Amino acid sequence: MEEEGGLRRINYLRMSITDRCNLRCVYCTYWQEWKKLPSTEILRYEELLRLAAVAAEAGIRKIRVTGGEPLARRGVLGFLHSLNQVPGIEEVCLTTNGIMLLELAPALYETGLRHLNLSLDTLRPERYRKITGRNKWREVMAGLESALSLGFQPLKINCVALQGINDDELVDLALLARDYPLQIRFIELMPSVSRGWWDRHFLPLSEVRRRLAVLGFPRPAPRQASAGPAQVFRLPGFKGELGFISPISEHHCRTCNRLRLTAAGQLRPCLAGLLELDIKGPLRRGAADPWLFHVFEEAIQSKNRDWRIPLRRCTFPAMAGMGG
Ligand code: SAM
Repeated sequence: MEEEGGLRRINYLRMSITDRCNLRCVYCTYWQEWKKLPSTEILRYEELLRLAAVAAEAGIRKIRVTGGEPLARRGVLGFLHSLNQVPGIEEVCLTTNGIMLLELAPALYETGLRHLNLSLDTLRPERYRKITGRNKWREVMAGLESALSLGFQPLKINCVALQGINDDELVDLALLARDYPLQIRFIELMPSVSRGWWDRHFLPLSEVRRRLAVLGFPRPAPRQASAGPAQVFRLPGFKGELGFISPISEHHCRTCNRLRLTAAGQLRPCLAGLLELDIKGPLRRGAADPWLFHVFEEAIQSKNRDWRIPLRRCTFPAMAGMGG
């Protein structure tokens, strides 16, 4: 992870391709206040591909396509296929809520995509409806089954641990990794909605781990060079793994290797920080690649300069469109 001189290698870009979502998850944003961006403000696919090529020049090796809901954007399959061809980009991943996965999984596999993250906070259909606002749990599970049978690997499940909402099924969720070659990733709730809601539902992952101790003794899994902030463990008898992402109770800043490109074309060195570098402006004004490269370089340098962000005091922006 570290380069000579102690600097991190910033090699991972989360690229939000839309601010639109077909779910309304309770913890994601203030949906009543949410206004979609005019479509002209959202980066076009050819713009995203050009930025991916420049990002590769700046050292990015892994791109995660996210949103909003990326599978809800028309043309996403062609885009993923082209992104897989960008020289220097070694890994393309996608994060999806999975409600269109049953329909799209074979075509996604055809694009060359192998690395898929699926968001799933509950194994109970009625609870799923309460969390996401839609009655789509069965579709998501059918999509997951299809992705498993096609052989997507790694296939990871993102599960936000929510006190009083899904904390009674943490063991059941973890057991998916016993039965299937999945990485179940428990994520701490970030305060992207009200402070009161966060106070009521935040569950530290230390407590999640304590409750999962009944499953056996976890051993740390080997770490990959472009891996994000998850701490990953293996358990005896499990086909898959468990991952833990604790942005609140443990600082990730020192090891965070990611930049974010918002759907509106702003480059963010840090999800919790205030700095946004406008890259869409120069891109649309006709800037040559070296200029765009300079914007990536500035984002990378600022990340290495300002890594001590007091996360407990941060309010995170709404996730939709942010590349959360
Ligand atoms: N629509 C896609 C999906 O649902 O996977 C991609 C975008 S969504 C913003 C990406 C991830 O962020 C999801 O796994 C979601 O659960 C997570 N997320 C959203 N708000 C969060 C919050 N306040 N705290 C922790 N994770 C959050």
